[in-house]
Amino acid sequence: MVKLNRQEILNILDGYDKENLTIATLGSHTSLHILKGAKEEGFNTAVVCEKGREIPYQRFKVADEYIIVDKFKDIINSEVQQKLRDMNSIVIPHGSFVAYAGLDSIENDFHVPMFGNRDILRWESDRDLERKLMNESGIRIPNKYKNHLDIDRTVMVKFPGARGGKGYFVASSAKEFDEKIKVMLEREWIEREDIEKAHIEEYVSGCNYCIHYFYSALNDEVEVLGMDSRYESNIDGLVRIPAKDQLEIGLNPSYVITGNHPVVMRESLLPQVFDIGDKLVESAKKFVPPGMNGPFCLQSLCTDDLEIVVFEMSARTDGGSNTFMHASAYSYLLFGEFMSMGRRIAREIKNGVREDRLNLIIT
Ligand code: AMP
Repeated sequence: MVKLNRQEILNILDGYDKENLTIATLGSHTSLHILKGAKEEGFNTAVVCEKGREIPYQRFKVADEYIIVDKFKDIINSEVQQKLRDMNSIVIPHGSFVAYAGLDSIENDFHVPMFGNRDILRWESDRDLERKLMNESGIRIPNKYKNHLDIDRTVMVKFPGARGGKGYFVASSAKEFDEKIKVMLEREWIEREDIEKAHIEEYVSGCNYCIHYFYSALNDEVEVLGMDSRYESNIDGLVRIPAKDQLEIGLNPSYVITGNHPVVMRESLLPQVFDIGDKLVESAKKFVPPGMNGPFCLQSLCTDDLEIVVFEMSARTDGGSNTFMHASAYSYLLFGEFMSMGRRIAREIKNGVREDRLNLIIT
């Protein structure tokens, strides 16, 4: 397969009517605030939507145009791409877009200008590449175990792909690892071939903060726009039961993300927050040009030593940015007006048009 040449995308962008751009995305994940933000900044908006899933966009009135497809993955069909180009569309990627379109298609076959960095999407989806990027940037991440026989303390066990935490478990010995693998297989949350791909890392005991950053390539500035923490089933329900009853019930904790809460951090932790965001942006520029470019998220745990340990990153809008479709405490501090992640993306594109520097932020 031949990787798309960035120049080809910039040529398509050259042919666009810049006064009539459309911001388009797949109707799922974070598309409501992406589309709403685009409308607030004066853009035409389009949603590519699986048949039957158009209701929220109609009811919240955030989309001007609908491209209805049988399956989400049809966004990569050539007719859909043509329709998008005909509307002068810039596509905003998000977690569901990556999952449904697929990395190979995005890199090789999706001939529509995108905001962000299309090459970095592979880095955030592959645990080894993601760890490489975070390691090289010098931010603290959980230690990794090569073999389950090496487990000598409490570990978190994860499986490949974005599963929203499904199948994850905690173990403190090789024996417990084997027992829990058996349970996960019985529940059909993992398959036999997943076992050898199990990712085993140090269990970090702390509070969850998912930090939503925006890197403006136009201003060369890292912004903190919001923070959320995850609401996970069944662990967040389980901790409401007294320890004695937890033992009696014998439930295995699971970490399936079902929602998000907005949070703010102790102010004294904010220097660390900016430091790790700046560091990641620098290493991304080096390893995956043009670097972060737009929204990214560091999912972290803050320990009682007040150290922020990052266990995951997203290099596009993260689901937790839905906690500030209007504004967060932090986006208000910076902008003094309603500013969602979606609106910030649209503002960057608008500035790119105005300054005739759109080619810096489109891939
Ligand atoms: P993830 O799918 O990587 O976002 O992880 C889902 C959830 O698992 C997180 O929100 C945390 O509650 C938990 N988790 C992930 N990694 C760790 C870790 N290294 N230590 C403790 N908890 C973790």
